[in-house]
Amino acid sequence: MMNTQLTLTQMIERAERYFPKKEVVSRTSPSKIHRLTYAQIGKRTRSLSSVLEKLGVKRGDRVGTLAWNQHRHLEAYFAVPCMGAVLHTINMRLSDDHLVYIINHAEDKVLLIDEDIVPIIEKVKDQLSTVTAFIIMTDKETLPETSLEPAYSYEALLVTGDENYPFCNDIDENEPAGMCYTSATTGKPKGVVYSHRGIVLHSLALGLADTKGISESDVNMPIVPMFHVNAWGIPFASTWFGSKQVLLGPNVTPKLICEFIESEKVTATAGVPTIWIGVLKELEENTYDMSSLRLMICGGAAAPKGLIKQYREKYGIPFVHAYGLTETTPLLTVSKLKSGQSDLTEEEQLEIRAKQGMAVPGLEVKIINEKGEAAHDGKEIGELLVRGLWIADSYYKDDRSKESFRDGWFYTGDIAAIDEEGYIKLVDRTKDLIKSGGEWISSVDLENALMAHEAVFEAAVVAVPHPKWQERPVACVVLKDSYRNAVTKDDLLSYLKPQFAKWWLPDDMIFLEELPKTSVGKFLKRELREQLKGHLKP
Ligand code: ADP
Repeated sequence: MMNTQLTLTQMIERAERYFPKKEVVSRTSPSKIHRLTYAQIGKRTRSLSSVLEKLGVKRGDRVGTLAWNQHRHLEAYFAVPCMGAVLHTINMRLSDDHLVYIINHAEDKVLLIDEDIVPIIEKVKDQLSTVTAFIIMTDKETLPETSLEPAYSYEALLVTGDENYPFCNDIDENEPAGMCYTSATTGKPKGVVYSHRGIVLHSLALGLADTKGISESDVNMPIVPMFHVNAWGIPFASTWFGSKQVLLGPNVTPKLICEFIESEKVTATAGVPTIWIGVLKELEENTYDMSSLRLMICGGAAAPKGLIKQYREKYGIPFVHAYGLTETTPLLTVSKLKSGQSDLTEEEQLEIRAKQGMAVPGLEVKIINEKGEAAHDGKEIGELLVRGLWIADSYYKDDRSKESFRDGWFYTGDIAAIDEEGYIKLVDRTKDLIKSGGEWISSVDLENALMAHEAVFEAAVVAVPHPKWQERPVACVVLKDSYRNAVTKDDLLSYLKPQFAKWWLPDDMIFLEELPKTSVGKFLKRELREQLKGHLKP
């Protein structure tokens, strides 16, 4: 067979050739919505490559982006890798220290920055040792006032570019196309490099009917940011397959999400649970037409059972749980029922949907614990290991690679059980597990149960040091507005009691106005643990 190279150039070229009139809808500010076709995006992408070349970007150089979901970011997604350079998407919500660390560690040569993010980079500019140019992605014709130097206006540069610029035609599929740093929960962020081959194969997997089934007829609106593991790969697959894309820009609210689903007839969307918890509240308060949706992907953290149930039963929205990590590009599992399982009771089906799902084709998983490889019986737990076509094999220039990549497997740091059918159920992240008197308690199971209570808006359960038991669970709960002061700690404990062994029940239940969240919207348990350190007295 022919050994053609799996590179990103074929994706954008296909969109230009077959879908020149298909639209990308991009909201760059509350008052500005752009509608561009793939023909226009293609020309602008080529111009951007040519301009970057003029600015001195060479094969293998890193180009960083600090940007929301918008069309210029999408252009960079292709312009950078298709000229042989490496797209480094940066989470602008990281601390200044981490931003400086990752930009210097990746040795970014050029930074592409959204106008509202410029002040963040201005603050740290003197510490950036490798950046030679800043390109500001502004809607304005002129360059906004900035202390960054040298700074250029994206649109002004594009006018000087070559819209027929030929993409690099000799890229080896194993060359790097992109990179992303995991948002560090402990220590410095770790860099993951994505090869052209990895991204192409991952995109193909997104098109499989049993995963996300992304196709030409879709209108894809990733809510997950384009700086969070490439918006889970959706922009790449959408462009390749010719789907319409909707990119919501800055300041995304549940109301905005619902309005765009209705007006753009979005068919597939994806985000973390906290996003869908917010959207559910919006749907309870206002009416929207959600009938275009065929898929609402929930990933990045465990999808609470109650959330799955409400979306599916109350609103008829196909809500699907998926799981992955920065190191896995990220798609690892999708939770869908197998044929035959539709005969199961509603409750049994929900049980399966709330699991993280089966490894998608192209990947292999196993769990190991101190006894060796664990049985797939749904009971034995251990650390989840994965290997396959789009799994990283190391961290970028980082000694910590040795701990996570061993014997050809990636150690995810997640604790899981796998049942006889192959469905993975994550019990916890290694660092979130609660160790009480030598036994493990799953914070995820307790959270799931709490969030299924009608009064609970959000809940996080964390380990708090205990003089006798080593650690005990404490629940932090945000009540829905209408239930404030109407539900007590004892109400919630009595509700949990029949569902769990007595020693699993939280030692305390704390009501909060809101839960701290990470830069990508996951519950920030580290901060809660820190706050509650001395909470349990002997
Ligand atoms: P970060 O470490 O910054 O959160 P990632 O986005 O790579 O970076 O997060 C990966 C982790 O998120 C996984 O190791 C897992 O603990 C958690 N995660 C992702 N998806 C799910 C899911 N569907 N259910 C439970 N946990 C999930």
